Amino acid sequence: MPCDTSIIEAPRLGEPYLLTPGPLTTSYEVKEAMLRDWGSWDDDFRAMTRKMRDQLLALLGDGRADYDCVPIQGSGSYCVEAMLGSFVPADGKVLVMANGAYGLRAARTMEYLGREFHLVNKGDYMPPRGDEVAEILAQDSAITHVLIIHCETSSGILNPVEELADAAHAAGCKVLIDSMSAFGAVPLDVSRVKYAAMVSSANKCIEGVPGFGFVIARKDELAAAEGNSHSLSLDVHAQWVTMEETGQWRFTPPTHVVAAFLKALEGHTAEGAVAGRGARYTRNRDVMVAGMRKLGFETLLAERWLSPIIVTFFCPADPNFEFTQFYELMKSKGFIIYPGKLTVVDSFRVGCVGQMDEHTMRRVVEAARETLDEMNVASAAPPQAALDERKILAA
Ligand SMILES: *Cc1c(COP(=O)(O)O)cnc(C)c1O
Repeated sequence: MPCDTSIIEAPRLGEPYLLTPGPLTTSYEVKEAMLRDWGSWDDDFRAMTRKMRDQLLALLGDGRADYDCVPIQGSGSYCVEAMLGSFVPADGKVLVMANGAYGLRAARTMEYLGREFHLVNKGDYMPPRGDEVAEILAQDSAITHVLIIHCETSSGILNPVEELADAAHAAGCKVLIDSMSAFGAVPLDVSRVKYAAMVSSANKCIEGVPGFGFVIARKDELAAAEGNSHSLSLDVHAQWVTMEETGQWRFTPPTHVVAAFLKALEGHTAEGAVAGRGARYTRNRDVMVAGMRKLGFETLLAERWLSPIIVTFFCPADPNFEFTQFYELMKSKGFIIYPGKLTVVDSFRVGCVGQMDEHTMRRVVEAARETLDEMNVASAAPPQAALDERKILAA
């Protein structure tokens, strides 16, 4: 089904659009789905959990019969911790390929778990590459798993997952993926990348509200994970076994969030699933980036690394530009943007995900233009230091 190009309704009740990677702007129907209470033990809710798991698995592509889906209460980081704690045995060792905040958070999680890891920190945005993975794995035979961040949301870079996974598999290692901000909009076919497990959450590209995440893992890995977890509530194996046996979550499920998520999945299917959603987000990004560049803004990343999820722009060099004021003025026009996470130069981010389309993105650019005028910023061009920084990436 082609991507629906009709204008998406503006959020009601005068809410601003969230140009953030999640929580993001959800549809009215998704919010409305939460106006009913569900008993966690009741058959109706058990059927909802079953349906949700099946629908998520249906997004995997050929080879999905080898996989199962286990939802976990909490935000996305709970799922990352659940995945690392459940699939990496106590004597395992993880190679963490980090190029931003989420890779570093995964390494921090390994510290808490007290399990061995090797951190490769590429800095704010440089992509990790397959040959680096191959080299490290050749030198360190203790490494059992490689953790890959799919879209590193802190810069918006789309990391080369297939290349990294191929290098890991060639060395006999298992692959774990944080696909939090990419799953549902960027293809990750299990016939191509045979990962042991991956995680995502309700409030990212499926466009649900926050409250749980989900682990998608090979069934043989789920079965083998018994006894690995450091944590009762984050034990993916135990949650899986209970769900298979009783259809229930082990502890209080976020019932309203699950109801909203099922509504969000309906919207995802109607839009043409991963391909349709990815096409709308890509169009959002292209329209927004082209418009911002016309105003003089420059992206941190070159074209080939830009994800359709979120884009980092350098703050303008003009002395009249001040991010907090830019943020407030954009908000007053109905758009909540996101501060940047670069350590070297000032930046901000604009998300392309959620209930918005290219018409919304044109209004975002228009709001940015008006805001620059109001701030008396003559040029949105970044400082030389930012452009020097970017050359490192191009080299
Ligand atoms: C959102 C996100 C997470 C999880 O963050 P929470 O704040 O715990 O939801 C993890 N990894 C990536 C890449 C993300 O984008």
